[in-house]
Parts: sequence; C-alpha cells; structure tokens
Amino acid sequence: MPQVAETAAMPPPGGPCEGSGGLVAALTAGEQEVARVMQICNACRYCEGFCAVFPAMTRRLAFGKADTHYLANLCHNCGSCFHACQYAPPHDFAVNVPRAMATVRGRTYQDYAWPPAFGRLYQRAGLTVALALAGGLALFLVLAAAMTGGLLHAPLGGNFYAIFPHNLLAALFGVVFLFAMLALGIGVARFWREISPAGEAGAAAPMTTVGVPAAAESVADVARLTYLGGGHGEGCNEDSDRFTLWRRRFHQLTLYGFLLCFAATCVATLYHYLLDRHAPYAFDSLPVILGTLGGAGLIVGPVGLLWLNVRRDALLTDPSQKAMDRGFIALLLLVSATGFALLVLRDTRFMALWLAIHLGTVMALFVTLPYGKFVHGVCRAAALLKFNIEKRLPNRLGLGGD
Ligand code: SF4
Ligand code: SF4
Repeated sequence: MPQVAETAAMPPPGGPCEGSGGLVAALTAGEQEVARVMQICNACRYCEGFCAVFPAMTRRLAFGKADTHYLANLCHNCGSCFHACQYAPPHDFAVNVPRAMATVRGRTYQDYAWPPAFGRLYQRAGLTVALALAGGLALFLVLAAAMTGGLLHAPLGGNFYAIFPHNLLAALFGVVFLFAMLALGIGVARFWREISPAGEAGAAAPMTTVGVPAAAESVADVARLTYLGGGHGEGCNEDSDRFTLWRRRFHQLTLYGFLLCFAATCVATLYHYLLDRHAPYAFDSLPVILGTLGGAGLIVGPVGLLWLNVRRDALLTDPSQKAMDRGFIALLLLVSATGFALLVLRDTRFMALWLAIHLGTVMALFVTLPYGKFVHGVCRAAALLKFNIEKRLPNRLGLGGD
C-alpha cells in the first residue's frame, strides 16, 4: 500500500484555497476537512477504483470550495474507502472520507436551496416535522371533506371527484408540484454553476463528442445506480467491513417505485384530458397497475432503507442528517401505505376519510421535496454529469491514472 508523507500540504485553516475554479472563498470547517483528506488520498490513491470520487480527485492538486462540493455529491457514503484505509482512526491522520463528504454534502443542500431563505428548512426537515406536516395537511383535508359532504358516506364506486372536484385537486397539486420542480431546478442550476464555472477548462466542451455521451452515461449510471456496486460489484459497507448489495437493491426499488407512481399519475392525466376517460379506473387499467407496482416498490424500498439506516455504522455518517433521512423515508412510506389503503377501501363508506389522509401525505411529500433528502438524487446526478464530462477531457495535470 502506498505511503503518504506526513508533510502532505494542508489548506490554511479558514483561509482561501486554490481549486479547479481558481482562487475561491474561505472554506468552512467541513470543507477544510474534505480538502485535507483529499490531499492525503491524492498522495495515497489506494481507493482509486472504488467510486467516481477518486478519479475526479486525481484531476486536482488542491481543493477549493467548489471542488469539495462536487466531490461530496459524487460520494454516496458507501463506506468502502473507510474500511480500506490505513490512515483511518486511530491513525494520526484520522482519514474518514465518508463522514467528511457527508458533512459537506448535507451543507450543500442548504447552500444551493431556492429561495435561499428556505435553505434552513433542511435543518428542520426531520422525522417529527415530516409526520407533523403530513398529519396537519391530512387533518385539514379530513375536516374539509367532513364539512362539505360528510366523512362517512354511501359507497361512491371509487369516484374521488365526488369528494374533491377534479379541477380543485388539479389546481392544488399542480401549483405545489410546479413550485417543487422550480425550486429543485433553480437549486441544481446554482449547484451546477458553482462546480462548473464558465471560465473552467471543459465548461464549453463540445456537445456532440462530450456533452451528449456524458449525459447518456450519467442517465445510465443513475438508472443502474452503478456506483452503489462499490466499484467491484459486491456493494457497499453498512454496519461492518462486509460488502452488501442491499443498499443498491432498496435504492432501486425506491427509485423505480417513485417513477412508476409518477408514471401512473401522468397516464391518468392523459386519460382524463386526451381520451376523456375519467377516474375511477379499473384494477386492471394501466394507471392502477403502474400505481400498484410503484406503491409496492415504495413500501419495500423505504422499509429496507430505514432498516439499513438504523443499522448503519455511525462512524461513516453525519449524525445531524439522520432525522432528514428518516423524515423522507417516512413520507414515502406514508404515501404508499395510505395509497394502498385508499385502493382497497375506495368502494366503501370510508373512501372520503382515506382519500383525505392520502392526499395530505402526498401534499406533504411534494412540499418537502426541494428541502429534504430527495435533493440528494438531483445533486448526485449533476455531479455524475460533471464527472462524465470531465473524464472525456484531457487531464490537464497529466498525473491521474485515467
Ligand atoms: S481513503 Fe485512505 S486508503 Fe483510501 S485513498 Fe484515501 S488515504 Fe488512501
Ligand atoms: S464512501 Fe464510498 S462513495 Fe464515498 S468516497 Fe468512499 S468509496 Fe467513494
């Protein structure tokens, strides 16, 4: 294993640091720690094949603010480099890449949030707030249903719009969803501008030879969750140095469950507006099949992720972000569980009650999308795109293994 000289250059505490984007602002304590461990890793390079972080690191000699943000979002906290590291605690170097990256990564969600004042919501987007928000919105809709037509009613054949008119639901959820997409879009654009400044080498890389193939590879990386394979295909470390693919599997179930539920909503919207086919849809219709498969993924995936989250080695994570992780998982579970309850009870006298509860949880999920754990997927996709562009360009240092 390569030996690192004890004199590895460190960034001056709190001072400015030169990174790939030139002279940049003073680093926070968390960013300084990422810069410090990356300088040690850059001399060692034992973990080069584990994930995208290390090849990206080799293209840099110093690590500015933007570099630490980029690398932190490339890291998916698999823990492999910690278990492999000869400089991990109790060594004096105390190298703990997963934790250093996790700390900065959590901070980037806040830094690039839009509107900026909402960034502090990340600190509050915990389990309690998620449950309180879902409960509050569900209660509001339950009361609204009770005041308009009564909570218990004769079976309505699954006709949701007899409780809440279609146009009211479309307007209410349309506004919240569009705001969430706008906030996420502006947030990730701010992140992208920071990690890929206009003057940077490669910022104007040709689209046909670099941009398009890099984008295609990034989509494939996200679709396959390539790096959750650990670089050797055996997976991540969770509570020990044993590799496991369960994190990848539960992430895939959650991702595809979410996408299938989204597809079900899109198909139902097309049915309504283009084909004049209105809900309720039969159990064997496309929207219900897609929603049922997606809902199953959104039960099994989040339950598994919660199980892994509880067992996860605390040394590898930023403990302050556990609440955010669990809040998001809880909302996904609530949405899928109440969705299934509504599907089963839609032709009974309890439909209005379950419709209100389900809509309240869906609304809470949408409201918190730009200010909770969901953002990690968007920022990681952007970091992967930068990585896939960068690796197609000549390494200006000429030192990296790639
Ligand atoms: S994590 Fe440790 S073993 Fe891996 S590259 Fe860094 S210093 Fe080397
Ligand atoms: S924790 Fe995993 S993903 Fe993060 S830098 Fe280490 S090996 Fe890469």
